[in-house]
Amino acid sequence: MKVQEIKFKDIKYNHSILIGENILRVLPQKIRKLCPLTKKIMIIIDKNVPRKFEFILKRKLKKYNIIFFKFTSSEKTKSLKSANFFLEKLLNNRFNRTDLVIAVGGGITGDLVGFVSSIYKRGINFINLPTTLLAQVDASIGGKTGFNSKHGKNLIGSFYQPKLVLSDTSFLKSLRRKEMICGYAEILKHAIIKDKSFFEWLKKNTQKVLIKKTKELVYAIKKSCLIKLFFVNKDVNEKNLRMILNFGHTFAHAIEVRSNYSKNITHGEAVLSGMILATKLSNIKKVCNNNTYKEILEIYDNNKLSYTYKKFKNKNIIDKLIPYLKNDKKNQDEKINFILLNKIGKTYLPNKFKISVRNLKKFNKAMNKF
Ligand code: NAD
Repeated sequence: MKVQEIKFKDIKYNHSILIGENILRVLPQKIRKLCPLTKKIMIIIDKNVPRKFEFILKRKLKKYNIIFFKFTSSEKTKSLKSANFFLEKLLNNRFNRTDLVIAVGGGITGDLVGFVSSIYKRGINFINLPTTLLAQVDASIGGKTGFNSKHGKNLIGSFYQPKLVLSDTSFLKSLRRKEMICGYAEILKHAIIKDKSFFEWLKKNTQKVLIKKTKELVYAIKKSCLIKLFFVNKDVNEKNLRMILNFGHTFAHAIEVRSNYSKNITHGEAVLSGMILATKLSNIKKVCNNNTYKEILEIYDNNKLSYTYKKFKNKNIIDKLIPYLKNDKKNQDEKINFILLNKIGKTYLPNKFKISVRNLKKFNKAMNKF
């Protein structure tokens, strides 16, 4: 299969994203081109990525001086302590800025290793090989890096673009369905907020994406990256338009915090629930019609995803989520800042719908009606 390439430019540099099945073969030539002075490479790989990829990478990059680390990824290890560990290793091994750091893993590994790369000698070459669907369609795009602290998730970080993102769908073969759903939730979100025809395509092809059919996966990843890039490039520092990418996430974060980040509900499932709640709210606010809501529900029902929103059909769901909605990062005052939907492919702008807790409570009854 031909390698799919997306090229884009930020303020300073050209970047590219490669997508395809079994495309690690192109990595050595890309490194030679993008990082011609590199002699040493530090590879930090999620320990759940199958071992064969470790062997492939070692073989393909044998001309370089390679230092290999396995990383046990979790929201707990996405920490300053881990960042410090890798920074020390880079220093001890006398890495120069012209050398290279490669992340091989999901969003946690990519975010943490990207952060380390951004501050090591004020920026060392960084390449990201995302190995989860979520990382391929979302986390590896846009240059946000960071780690968690006891005060919350992703509160400390930087913006730093990798020299290359290489999304090889063969990494996804070992991924559990729950993890596929996490990535799919963001793919669906991208279609809902920006692209009606992609949404129509997903109506027919969701199942194929979830069971990892290569052609459909590659198409969905590429489309998704293009939509995310559209918003990121319009608002690199996340001041306004990029917040549209948070559609469904205000509710999702509240659901996750309320459940104390329990393993019973993954981030992707919370996003799927959150998008339904946000669409309901749009409907109650009379800015989105019933058909749009039904069309979205249908895609869930046809693909065994309705369990995600059925969990939140219980009474007074808004009341239960309010204490957590109040802490959302997008809020600039006492009101809660929602991204609402107009129709498939079009949302309202950030800050258009700021709803006070008192008014939100009034919607409780209406939310239960659905
Ligand atoms: P993750 O990195 O924890 O990976 C999910 C699970 O899959 C882990 O258990 C991991 O060990 C395992 N795994 C990874 N690759 C595998 C493979 N090929 N086969 C089998 N198992 C594999 O989580 P994620 O869902 O990829 O990413 C979530 C993180 O991404 C969060 O920390 C979130 O904050 C971050 N994120 C960042 C951005 C951004 O813009 N930077 C955007 C969205 C999410």
